[in-house]
Amino acid sequence: MGCGRKAPQAELVRFTAQAGLLASGRTLPGRAAYTCTRLSCFERAVARRAFNRTLRRTVKIDPALQRLYTGGRDEQRRP
Ligand SMILES: [Zn+2]
Repeated sequence: MGCGRKAPQAELVRFTAQAGLLASGRTLPGRAAYTCTRLSCFERAVARRAFNRTLRRTVKIDPALQRLYTGGRDEQRRP
């Protein structure tokens, strides 16, 4: 979504809109948007409002989500 790079879904970070907030997680319900695991991909998606487009709604983006790309990996490690 961010950079357009093709990658297996297992190597992507999955996001959905939960109560108007962007949330990461593999099991959350609803329309999903994916970025690859590079922070630059996430930032690009934010800058382009790609999450709003892909999720078809306006979502607030918590800057703390950047931790998913910079070391806080618990969400990504969930099966
Ligand atoms: Zn990417």
